[in-house]
Amino acid sequence: MSNLIELKVPDIGGHSNVDVIEVFVKPGDVVSKDDSLITLETDKATMEVPAETAGVVKEVKVAVGSKVSEGDVIVIVEAAAAASAAPAEAKPLETTGVASAHTDAGFAPQAAPVAASHGGGADIECDVMVLGGGPGGYSAAFRAADLGQKVVIVERYSTLGGVCLNVGCIPSKALLHNAAVIDEVSHLAANGIKFGKPEVDIDLLRGYKEKVIGKLTGGLAGMAKARKVQIVRGNGRFIDPHHLEVSVTTGNGREESGEKTIVKFSNAIIAAGSRVVKLPFIPDDPRVVDSTGALELKAVPEKMLIIGGGIIGLEMGTVYSTLGARLDVVEMLDGLMQGADRDLVKVWQKWNAHRFDNIMLNTKTVAVEPKEDGVYVTFEGEQAPKEPQRYDLVLYATGRAPNGKLLAAENAGVAVTDRGFIPVDKQQRTNVPHIYAIGDIVGQPMLAHKGVHEGHVAAENCAGHKAFFDARVIPGVAYTDPEVAWVGMTEDEAKKQGIKVEKSVFPWAASGRAIANGRDEGFTKLIFDPATHQVIGGGIVGPHAGDMIGEICLAIEMGCDAEDIAKTIHPHPTMGESIGMAAEVFEGSCTDLPPQRKK
Ligand code: FAD
Repeated sequence: MSNLIELKVPDIGGHSNVDVIEVFVKPGDVVSKDDSLITLETDKATMEVPAETAGVVKEVKVAVGSKVSEGDVIVIVEAAAAASAAPAEAKPLETTGVASAHTDAGFAPQAAPVAASHGGGADIECDVMVLGGGPGGYSAAFRAADLGQKVVIVERYSTLGGVCLNVGCIPSKALLHNAAVIDEVSHLAANGIKFGKPEVDIDLLRGYKEKVIGKLTGGLAGMAKARKVQIVRGNGRFIDPHHLEVSVTTGNGREESGEKTIVKFSNAIIAAGSRVVKLPFIPDDPRVVDSTGALELKAVPEKMLIIGGGIIGLEMGTVYSTLGARLDVVEMLDGLMQGADRDLVKVWQKWNAHRFDNIMLNTKTVAVEPKEDGVYVTFEGEQAPKEPQRYDLVLYATGRAPNGKLLAAENAGVAVTDRGFIPVDKQQRTNVPHIYAIGDIVGQPMLAHKGVHEGHVAAENCAGHKAFFDARVIPGVAYTDPEVAWVGMTEDEAKKQGIKVEKSVFPWAASGRAIANGRDEGFTKLIFDPATHQVIGGGIVGPHAGDMIGEICLAIEMGCDAEDIAKTIHPHPTMGESIGMAAEVFEGSCTDLPPQRKK
């Protein structure tokens, strides 16, 4: 019996004739409920449209370049019951790309596209063309230039630095620093030092953040000049494996002037990053913002909702809450700050409980409706309120999508996955040997420090070296208060994978420095291989945890065992010594805790 269902374009905030820029499915694919079918792009945002029903795709009614409106059919699927009898060759869709591209896990094998051929000339010729001037891109470009290469960066915006410097890591930390000082000062009242309620001039605060960005992006421009790295401003798209066409952009944004520049390159490094994912029911309204909008800090709302309980949402929530907003957070999964061990997150959550009215876990946002008196949001799931809730500001922070499908990479013969990631090998090479890719566009974790290291590897290979990305671990940090930092094997992951590990914990309640600082809520944890006693992971929760996690990264990279760390003399009194003491706990030699049981 046929059970065919048409999956249609949902309410897309009143837009019509919207461009389809990505299609994730093809006939024969098995889709689960909520898998993305297509990405739409309006002049303001991109949004992924999820499947409302699981099934096997029978027909795809749209293609990249189609224009669609609400109600248009995207695909026809044979619904789940019938799908169980699907042909054996039907393959599940790739997962969200959470696995690192370096392992090639999480990516469906891609057939390499047939490259195009450019018959014309070029305006600029270079050894290495870097597409994208974010942390991955500028680091690659500068390293290649330092190795004697003639380098061009193609960047659509007027400043280098990408998401990280302009609308990510740095502006968020500039605001978080101010919030942390306000919070810290407020705790001093109990010690007899009272400052009174802070008066916040939001324009000056925003100005401070802009100044920080300006200082860093200005510095990058200077460093590019000093290295004779040429910056070509515009939107780049490949026209063949050795040519990029740049549509020149002007002003502060991505406005194209109509002028074109052709760049000819011997090697290319794709560093075009990622963009915010906008769910289809998110309307265009100034009170509904992504992280970039939240960083604009236009006003402090009374009641704020964060959709997505990941690091970006919680960092921005910290800033707004310290400035006076009451917070709700909604998260589809069963905990906030996924990726970190739950015992670390628990400490953060307890310390921050006062900021939140509602933490809704295992709960989905299903509708966001702007009205005159506020934005009304409807939820479904375990902790969903029955009625829609009213907010003054809604921040959606539900993830980022790679830009791989927006570069005409197929003209260069470069394979791109359905989701827009560009698979690479350990030398950062794509399937086209002289074209490399780095940063957010090659896979998770989407973090600046990962992109920078990948950029150096790609640049060194362009210069003829034999370089490989073989980092054992990549740390993650939530710059909240307290900070939560982790690296390598986590306890929760070990449990999930059935891997036997041993751990040791040094509670900050026993640290003289933490007590003196009035911040002894945290702890430092090390994870060991039981056979070798080598450290394979670690986590820290407490102020400046992010500054300390680097020592555990180094210990893992160097293959240190517990004794190596325990016998390393750490300065006293510092929070850093908690890492040495956690190793002493493992060794049974810690004298800053009550006597331990013999192993
Ligand atoms: P991007 O920074 O995305 O840069 C890509 C560049 O390519 C952009 O400048 C873009 O304009 C340009 N580009 C794209 N397509 C084209 C084209 N066709 N033509 C020309 N130019 C193009 N990471 C951390 O490690 N620590 C943090 O604390 C942290 N905080 C964050 C906070 C927020 C709010 C956000 C949003 C992100 C944060 N991140 C953080 C993530 C970090 O910003 C990214 O991982 C990092 O910027 C990725 O670097 P990238 O070089 O791969 O790409």
